[in-house]
Amino acid sequence: MYIFKTSLRYFSDKIKSTNKMVVPMICPKCGTENEEGILFCENCDWRMDIPYVAKKEGGEKAKIFAPITFVLGIISAVLLYFFPVGSIVFGGAGLLLGGYAFNISRAYEAKEKNIFIALSAIGLLLSMISFIMGFGGLL
Ligand SMILES: [Zn+2]
Repeated sequence: MYIFKTSLRYFSDKIKSTNKMVVPMICPKCGTENEEGILFCENCDWRMDIPYVAKKEGGEKAKIFAPITFVLGIISAVLLYFFPVGSIVFGGAGLLLGGYAFNISRAYEAKEKNIFIALSAIGLLLSMISFIMGFGGLL
């Protein structure tokens, strides 16, 4: 790891001297002050020239949409027993939202991202099964 970081510093120094690239010294992710011209943060290895805002926003959406997908999946599965049309409606909504929730959960940069990936995956699976079985219940 030390050799890797040293060689990275060597290359970032080279880029700095040849291209005169302007790199911010304060890490956009963790706020650590780094040496001038460094490409990766000393503390968290974030690339210094990439802003950190976009993925945080995705995380806020994942916190909302992954649990909703999970709930939609549960509702559509429960409705299978007495109201198959409801399973098709809620399962269809879970399928539409689930794909989106799964993708933003995967892009989410945080330790708890696996919780939201699991919630949206389970919700997506339940929605899909209930959606198909709901049509079966109508026949
Ligand atoms: Zn950092």
